[in-house]
Amino acid sequence: MPNFDLSGRVAFITGGNGGIGLGMAKGMAEAGATVVIAGRSRAKAETALGALRAFGGTADFVELDVLDEAACRAAVDGVATRFGRLDVLVNNAGTSVRKQPQDLSAADWHHVMNTNLTSAFVCSQAAYPHMKAAGGGKIINIGSMMTIFAAPYATPYAASKGAIVQMARAMATAWAKDNIQVNSILPGWIDTELTQKAREQVSGLNERVLARTPAGRWGHPDDFAGIAVFLASRASDFVTGAAIPVDGGFSVQS
Ligand code: NDP
Repeated sequence: MPNFDLSGRVAFITGGNGGIGLGMAKGMAEAGATVVIAGRSRAKAETALGALRAFGGTADFVELDVLDEAACRAAVDGVATRFGRLDVLVNNAGTSVRKQPQDLSAADWHHVMNTNLTSAFVCSQAAYPHMKAAGGGKIINIGSMMTIFAAPYATPYAASKGAIVQMARAMATAWAKDNIQVNSILPGWIDTELTQKAREQVSGLNERVLARTPAGRWGHPDDFAGIAVFLASRASDFVTGAAIPVDGGFSVQS
């Protein structure tokens, strides 16, 4: 399937050291890409790199806190310099502060917005000149069911996930002429560290997710391998500005 082959391509994935990011990184590594994962935890990254290198290609880790704008720009430039190209950027790093809106501090708000949204803006802006110079590229943003729906405990999270998809659409219109496609993935409820915490903090969540998801299960990070390969590969060259749910049918259930 030459259209899905990622041999010779270089992908940079924020938060690729765990959860959904690692699921996407594994898909791209299996399809032949050189994969660079970024996050704060080196311990998590060591385990992740073992899984990625098992596919036989090159995988590397950059220690990065995406709240540090200069470090984001340096990390993106560093990948392009080290490997000679940057074909795919996945803006995946994300977090949540679960409180009622009236209880949120401004610091809570900025923490979630800067982690989930501003970092994606900064990394995309840093990736642009490298992709433009190479004649094209792929940017993949991670939205959420909170892009479409909302919850009382998710004010900054829902705001950031609505905005990251609108940001992708705006960049898609700006950069289509440069052959850069910018798309979003909207995960349903996926079993990761993030949602393990949510299950502890939000009573009845597990039961509500199972009842509302037509597939009848939580998603798994490996469920994101296929969509990541598609959006990173030539197969999606005429797909841009799209927001694709990977949710077991959650978003179409009445
Ligand atoms: P995890 O908590 O498992 O993974 C989040 C990743 O982001 C980690 O690898 C973490 O690495 C990284 N990260 C968090 N904060 C920072 C930071 N400041 N700097 C650098 N890296 C950071 O969560 P998920 O895999 O579930 O989440 C991945 C994405 O998917 C997020 O954007 C999330 O909002 C989104 N999503 C998840 C859903 C779900 O059901 N799980 C549903 C919808 C969307 P480290 O700790 O090492 O920094």
